[in-house]
Amino acid sequence: MIVISARQHPGEHNASFIMEGLIRALLTSPDLQTLLLISDVHIAPMMNPDGVICGNSRSNLSGLDINRRWAESELNDKLTPESAALKYHMSHNLNGKVLMFIDIHGQSSSNGMVFYSNDSNIKQQQDTIAQLGKRIEAWLQMRLLPKVLQKS
Ligand SMILES: [Zn+2]
Repeated sequence: MIVISARQHPGEHNASFIMEGLIRALLTSPDLQTLLLISDVHIAPMMNPDGVICGNSRSNLSGLDINRRWAESELNDKLTPESAALKYHMSHNLNGKVLMFIDIHGQSSSNGMVFYSNDSNIKQQQDTIAQLGKRIEAWLQMRLLPKVLQKS
């Protein structure tokens, strides 16, 4: 499963344009429709609507940066319920089977599209051949979607 979110930072309007284009591409691009056949895609297009309504740049109604509080947010977190709910959905409803989590932000100092991802650290660990094969497969899967998006 693939999870895509945007607008954790309400001032990053460009993230909504990217999300709209991504949804359109998912619905119309033959390459991405193939992706939908093999993986569920869960989309949270507006993570911080109260921050957008209040005209905040980086915070929600509680005045907190929900992106910076991601690690600490819990389901009963009343200060950052948006990220807590998405984290709960990913860990409980999707049973932790998230292949990729894309969190779209706006970046004023970079041009084009930038992907950050976790690193499977292929070179530094000493695994059995089977473990190494699984990590290489995960590494390839992480890089597949950015490559497909680049073409679409
Ligand atoms: Zn951001």
